[in-house]
Amino acid sequence: MKIVIIGASFAGVSAAVAIRKKHPAAEIHLIEKQATIGYLPGGINLYFNETIDPIEKAQFISEQQLEEWGISLLLSAKVISIDSKQHIVKYMEKDKECVMSFDKLILATGSSQWAQNIPGSDSEKVLKYKFLSGVLKAIEQLQNSDKVAVIGGGQIGGEAADTLLKMGKAVHLFERMDYLLFKYFDEEMIRPVQEEMTNRGVVFHFDETIAKITDGDEGLMIETKKSQLLCDSAIFAMNVRPDLAYLDGQIKMHTDQTVFVDEYLQTSHVDIFAIGDCIQVPYSLSDESFYIPLVNNAVRTGLVVAENLMQPTRPFVGSIRTIGTKLVDYYIASTGLTEAEGSFHDQPISTAHVQQKGSLFLGSETIYGKIIFEKESHKVLGAQLVSKADILEKINTLAMSIQMEQTLEELYQKDFLYHPYYSNVLDITNQLGLEGLWSEADEN
Ligand code: FAD
Repeated sequence: MKIVIIGASFAGVSAAVAIRKKHPAAEIHLIEKQATIGYLPGGINLYFNETIDPIEKAQFISEQQLEEWGISLLLSAKVISIDSKQHIVKYMEKDKECVMSFDKLILATGSSQWAQNIPGSDSEKVLKYKFLSGVLKAIEQLQNSDKVAVIGGGQIGGEAADTLLKMGKAVHLFERMDYLLFKYFDEEMIRPVQEEMTNRGVVFHFDETIAKITDGDEGLMIETKKSQLLCDSAIFAMNVRPDLAYLDGQIKMHTDQTVFVDEYLQTSHVDIFAIGDCIQVPYSLSDESFYIPLVNNAVRTGLVVAENLMQPTRPFVGSIRTIGTKLVDYYIASTGLTEAEGSFHDQPISTAHVQQKGSLFLGSETIYGKIIFEKESHKVLGAQLVSKADILEKINTLAMSIQMEQTLEELYQKDFLYHPYYSNVLDITNQLGLEGLWSEADEN
């Protein structure tokens, strides 16, 4: 069996490695247009925070490792078209057009940062650093900038603003919604982080959509309907999108230009699969699919597709959009539904807030928690944690609880370790379940 995977990043590499385990005799080819593989998209923050240097070290896999696993890797090779009927992939290597046949093809070409509707966003001073080539340019440009505009207040934008503050830059952050990280947090949970960022100098431009960017002699002009800002460079921190111009008409697409796949990650062609950032994923809390471009989804779809190449055996369970990061000394993490999204849920929801002192080990910092659940069934739907103590791992427990469709009653009774130094008498995750129940009892 000859398996060709287009795109050698999180999704493509996970698929290749899992296929090697499942089909030891298979011929596996990864085709990648970049000159190197495995760059971590958030690596630029690690570089400026002095945890990684040189930047090339921000890598999750090496070419050598793939070679050791018997996976063939073609670098600097850009796929330009496929012929799904003939089972052929056409790609450019240097200036030469080459073809490769396949028995099974996996589309793992992910996404990149591009905006169709912001004139001027393709300027060299509007930095996009998902891949190593962009990062190298961004490092140089940022070192020579004093005032930087961050376009987008999601995780990428928040992290960029945090890094720029540490570098001593003047930071302006533009966001079309009225608060930071709105997809993952309710406003009252993220407010302390936002306030701290303001105290440290970030100028927020909320409710402002970028209309135009102009690269002139005096600098980069960022324009919205409400304001104009002259700066030295900007960081493009808006949504990523797939670029699938190489596909032929046999492959069905969604209107947002993601590839249509079934629950086994199979496209409309029986021998072609798609994974990672080029597909929508089922949202586990509703019957809908959404575009949720996260590494966790890319890796998990890569692992699942390996099981389905010959037979559709393992459905992909979907995503509940779990994230975590650290901004201005606050660790913040979120999973599942927010309260703001609750009005779209098919059942009435309820919420509860918790404050808990961290353990001695966590420096006795307060942990702020919020739980979102179905009012009647008590099924857990979402959770958010904010603290100066490192609570990031705790969100995984809450994510598991949501994935397992647990109720508040099951959550507060789950097993947890107790240690006088490292933990609390009641774990924050259990306490969230309990507070949810108590808040319901108080209301009744
Ligand atoms: P990609 O990583 O996009 O990889 C696709 C690969 O396909 C690329 O290597 C590309 O070069 C190659 N390719 C594309 N077209 C072709 C072609 N025609 N021929 C050959 N090769 C091709 N997610 C998180 O969960 N946590 C984070 O902290 C996080 N930080 C991020 C920071 C930034 C700045 C950005 C932009 C994104 C971040 N993300 C993060 C999102 C994350 O990067 C993506 O979800 C993830 O990279 C998706 O992996 P993928 O393998 O599906 O696709």
